[in-house]
Amino acid sequence: MSVFGWREAPRADFAVLGHPIKHSLSPKMHHAAYDALGLRENYVAIEVIAEEFEQAIDHLIQLGYRGVNVTIPHKTAAFEWADSTCETSQKLQVCNTLRFSDQSGVNTDVPGFLKSLPGHSQRALVLGAGGSARAIVYALSRQGTEVSVWNRTGSRAAELVDQVGLGSRIVSDPAVGGFGLIVNTTSTGLTGDSLPIDWTGAEPGSQLAYDLAYSSGPTSFLSEAASHGLTGMDGRMMLMEQGAFAFEYWFDASAPREAMWEAIR
Ligand code: NDP
Repeated sequence: MSVFGWREAPRADFAVLGHPIKHSLSPKMHHAAYDALGLRENYVAIEVIAEEFEQAIDHLIQLGYRGVNVTIPHKTAAFEWADSTCETSQKLQVCNTLRFSDQSGVNTDVPGFLKSLPGHSQRALVLGAGGSARAIVYALSRQGTEVSVWNRTGSRAAELVDQVGLGSRIVSDPAVGGFGLIVNTTSTGLTGDSLPIDWTGAEPGSQLAYDLAYSSGPTSFLSEAASHGLTGMDGRMMLMEQGAFAFEYWFDASAPREAMWEAIR
């Protein structure tokens, strides 16, 4: 896959912007959607550092781009750039998808995560309190799930619960007993570090361990969950669903989800 610096960006229609961005599966996934529908659009990955976000967006608009997805570290800057945003973006103060024609933005992480869930859980434990945890805690709380949040740095968990928690609570120890869903939103999915999880209450076969990260093999969280009998899933389904919602926002047409899933499966 080609990754471009924004100053060297080719003429194209859509892009994912981030730093770092070279691991992104989004170009492959969006091209699979275009191929499935016989579209000739082009989607590329573009490296943009935080300080150059607005300059990069101006440049891409001049080149004829119609919209972008953004990832770390641009989700807040994207929200600030947009003239109009969806209700979820306003609540979380972040956008991950921009449309240039009307300078608007949406958050497709929240509906993407919810659509990726295989079923409803009464109680969920969310590990982590970073950017993606905000979206996950908000998504689950809004659909009526009782959410507990654990984070290495407790003050960040408190801030998150205060701002977007809708009644969720903080736990000081991440013990899995009693939770139908355990979501790892920490970046240990990428670093390989282990979390101090207490697995003694594990209920094999009736709990889902969900890691937002995706890589070539199971993350340490998913390996540990499997060794305690939990069903696991990684972040590819969420990636596909958030991408499908972005596609629909740009094209005003149904996204070919199966083709997109096949491309990253
Ligand atoms: P952030 O940097 O905003 O947050 C990182 C979180 O990880 C913080 O809560 C941090 O805790 C915690 N953390 C980092 N290292 C450790 C450690 N060694 N032990 C315990 N906790 C740790 O990241 P994001 O929320 O933006 O992203 C997190 C993950 O989610 C990434 O793997 C990313 O790829 C994935 N993701 C996947 C998506 C998808 O579509 N599938 C969408 C968005 C994200 P502390 O506060 O203490 O520093």
